[in-house]
Amino acid sequence: MRVHVVGAGPVGLLLTALLQSVEGVSVRLYEKRPEYTRTRMVQLAPYLVADSLESYQADVIDGDSVEAIFDRSELEQGLVFRQSIPSDLSELLDGWARGFCPLNAIEQSLSDLIDVRGQNGVVRTAAVVTAEDAMAMLEPGEVLIDSTGSRSLLRDHLVPGESREDANTLKVRLEYALVITFLYGQPYDCNEHCKYYKNIENANYKFIPMVHRTHFDGSVSHVTGIVSISAEEYDVLPSHFDGEWLRENVPAVAESTDRFIEKVKDETHGELLGDLEIVRIPLDLYRARNATNRQWLASESNGHPFASSPVFLAGDSAIGSPYFQSISLGLECAMFLAGLLAQPNLPVKEMLDRYELYIYKQWLRVYMRSKMIKHNKDLFESIDDPLALLDKLHIY
Ligand SMILES: Cc1cc2nc3c(=O)[nH]c(=O)nc-3n(C[C@H](O)[C@H](O)[C@H](O)COP(=O)(O)OP(=O)(O)OC[C@H]3O[C@@H](n4cnc5c(N)ncnc54)[C@H](O)[C@@H]3O)c2cc1C
Repeated sequence: MRVHVVGAGPVGLLLTALLQSVEGVSVRLYEKRPEYTRTRMVQLAPYLVADSLESYQADVIDGDSVEAIFDRSELEQGLVFRQSIPSDLSELLDGWARGFCPLNAIEQSLSDLIDVRGQNGVVRTAAVVTAEDAMAMLEPGEVLIDSTGSRSLLRDHLVPGESREDANTLKVRLEYALVITFLYGQPYDCNEHCKYYKNIENANYKFIPMVHRTHFDGSVSHVTGIVSISAEEYDVLPSHFDGEWLRENVPAVAESTDRFIEKVKDETHGELLGDLEIVRIPLDLYRARNATNRQWLASESNGHPFASSPVFLAGDSAIGSPYFQSISLGLECAMFLAGLLAQPNLPVKEMLDRYELYIYKQWLRVYMRSKMIKHNKDLFESIDDPLALLDKLHIY
């Protein structure tokens, strides 16, 4: 079986590395970036390397939802697949899931692993692939996977007669935010009490570090937090800037962030290392309504390449979510997809149906989780104003 994987970000690379060790599968991997240079730090969810159902469902926010959405047998199959991952790859996953890690390191080490493995079967092509290219290269019976990220190459081409932009996308905009990152010269850990006390004088623009978004690597703590901003503020801000720019142009956010950092310093007697790094992003939750081309295959249209070969969306192409959970979701779905493709006798229709159902369940899980986080954040913003807090509770 020949599988074309378009996009060698973390998800395309993991899929390739997984399929590389499946007998009878060859992979064509296409990537437009000449090298891996992304600087952002990411955190992988512990469930990615869980070795039991209990640890898979241990998450404080959505452990219960996982049990409600997935059948036990589905979760067990996921664990069995995880345990079958070759050790060179599972050791990498274990290492990344231990803490905070540069996205670049994940991409580079997967890429190197694919290149150094003896049994190759992978052909890599440096190219910007267009939707037309993807359709032209797909021979009947081959598999095409779009892992090109949030601006997916093929998401809008998966349904016959429908190629309007975003026709196949359901999007929920939760909020606009500044993601503020800094390095700190002492160990620093954060929990919900810390978020409260360090923001006690910040009536607005509370700086909210995620509990697991601080990481001490032996000499430096990496801290990432979110400050909510309005749509109007989002529109006038540049996409990236530093602390100096923030202090000059958005002093209210700078004061709140600086107050938070001062309290961290009072507590742990360290210093900020370098400047703040800030990006402004819309926090969107979205999914492809169709994560495969099963409607094309069912339509039996003659001549269209998507009517004779399976196409899948994987990673941010299929589902995107805010609050630092997207990469784990993408890697999880990549494992499921690789598990399906490794079953040579599975009929294509069943493969597509199972993938759609799985993606839908993952969507339910991340939708509920993200709405819960947003709701908790909203309550936290009003924590000093009981009446405003009550207005947001809607108890019955
Ligand atoms: C500031 C920031 C911080 C984040 N932090 C976290 C975090 O802590 N935890 C977390 O879970 N997630 C985090 N994320 C999200 C995470 O980075 C993404 O979920 C993840 O990168 C998605 O992986 P992917 O492989 O699906 O897509 P991408 O990483 O977007 O990779 C897509 C690849 O496809 C290539 N490509 C695109 N189009 C084409 C084409 N036409 N032809 C050839 N190649 C193409 C691109 O060059 C790229 O290499 C963060 C995102 C941002 C912006």
